[in-house]
Amino acid sequence: MDLVRRSARYAVILFGGLSVLLACAAGASPSPASPGESPDDSQPTLVVYLVVDQLRGDLLDRYSQAFTGGFRRLLGEGLNFTNALHGHSSTETAPGHAALSTGVHPGRAGVPANAWREGGDRVQVVDPQERLVGLPEVAGASPRVLLRTGLADWLLEADPRAKVFSVSAKDRAAVLMAGQSKGEVYWFDALSGQFVTSTYYRSDNPSWLTRFNRETMTGYRADSVWVSTVPPELADLSAPDTASFEGDGVNTYFPHRYHQERIDPDMDDFFLWFQTTPMLDRATLDLALVAMEAEGVGRTPGRTDFLSISFSQTDRVGHAYGPLSREQMDNLLRLDRVLEDLFAFLDRFVGRARYVVGLTGDHGVMTMPERVEEGGLRLTQEDRANVEESLTRAAWELGQAGHSDPAKVLTEVLREFPFMGPAFTHGDLLAGEQEDSLAILFQRNFTPGRAGGLLSMYGVEMWWGENVLDWNYASFGTTHGSPFHYDRWVPLILMGPGIEGGRVEDPVQPLDLAPTLARIAGIPYPDDLDGVPLIRRND
Ligand SMILES: [Zn+2]
Repeated sequence: MDLVRRSARYAVILFGGLSVLLACAAGASPSPASPGESPDDSQPTLVVYLVVDQLRGDLLDRYSQAFTGGFRRLLGEGLNFTNALHGHSSTETAPGHAALSTGVHPGRAGVPANAWREGGDRVQVVDPQERLVGLPEVAGASPRVLLRTGLADWLLEADPRAKVFSVSAKDRAAVLMAGQSKGEVYWFDALSGQFVTSTYYRSDNPSWLTRFNRETMTGYRADSVWVSTVPPELADLSAPDTASFEGDGVNTYFPHRYHQERIDPDMDDFFLWFQTTPMLDRATLDLALVAMEAEGVGRTPGRTDFLSISFSQTDRVGHAYGPLSREQMDNLLRLDRVLEDLFAFLDRFVGRARYVVGLTGDHGVMTMPERVEEGGLRLTQEDRANVEESLTRAAWELGQAGHSDPAKVLTEVLREFPFMGPAFTHGDLLAGEQEDSLAILFQRNFTPGRAGGLLSMYGVEMWWGENVLDWNYASFGTTHGSPFHYDRWVPLILMGPGIEGGRVEDPVQPLDLAPTLARIAGIPYPDDLDGVPLIRRND
């Protein structure tokens, strides 16, 4: 049977704007498939959910003429939503992945930040109830913080035999993309130089993982120099290589060498350096391919397996060198080749007509303040100390005075600082529908009882002004975490059989991907999601 010809066609439909783009003939109703519906030949045997950590929405277009591999294929064959904006305020890795996994905003998913205070405890996916398998002295990780199920769980509900495989350099990314499931979930532990899992998922390491850590990861020790692979004639697509606000302020240009940049000469710190380079994404792919082969992921007709890879190194390189740097351009060209190899493997191992890919980012990033054209501000330690001192004093005075709404007064104190941005009291965020678009973003991020923000303990959620950078108080690096466009804007690309390529400019949300991929897999998903499928199935 020719699966390409028999595969279902998908029409793009944007429910928000009711615009039907690139549409085929009108088809089946957009409601989820009913449980027990028999699988057809067009059902993919593998859903591939790819996240690139900190991939801002402009970067693929910026470097498109330099791509020759996986990004080129995605941009050429895929359906490219060029206006995908995260809909929450705290644009960090964990909330972003929680939303992408569950199809609901981070507040409802229960993940308002990478880490937060809950009662007296600091809480994150790192879970002191669990251990790393084989490293019992190290705390493990689990999705116990996650209040919602995700796409991986829905696939397992539809077919308990489905294989769920999630890998990333970061624990929070690998864990959250697998939802609440006990699938195969692996991430990188830089101190041991190994990919690991936790006792939440299993009690022993699979033999392929032990062999991978012993042989492949050890082999990566030879990669002690990060050289640029940017073609000289295209280098000007990125900013000049040398800039005082990059890296550690000293090692700001290629080549980057372990022996010059190592963190602690008194210990074996190779993998701490390695995880600042793009080579860790290559290792992450290597692990995914070994695991897929060993476990036969994606090869069983009538069953849809789940593969998530969250590539972390765009984030690490972006924090150190900024999104426009030569280093980030090189990192993305390397990721282009990593994705090329992934797709080539999937074509061969799964079959081109049998897998569907969704790629997006968990958040964007702020351009280095020195490179922001309209002017950016790098906060100093003194600026930060001034804010904290004013707030502590105000909070104390309010406490003394027995003020009825101290949070409200604190937001007014904050507004006196010229570099402050939005500030809302928890009362504002609980007061029902808001008009202010920033208030809506903060509402969608807010989980009562989980204090993730700088001033959450005072009943206030806030951020700095646009293009104001609150990061490490040195004179280098950048970050994300704001509710502004540059931190919320990410690519969103779908690619697979029956999906017609093209560009769609209508606004969509990255968390639409979870129900979209569920729709393509023909499985039911919860009816109370914040995301909507971006395609309609026309069988
Ligand atoms: Zn980051």
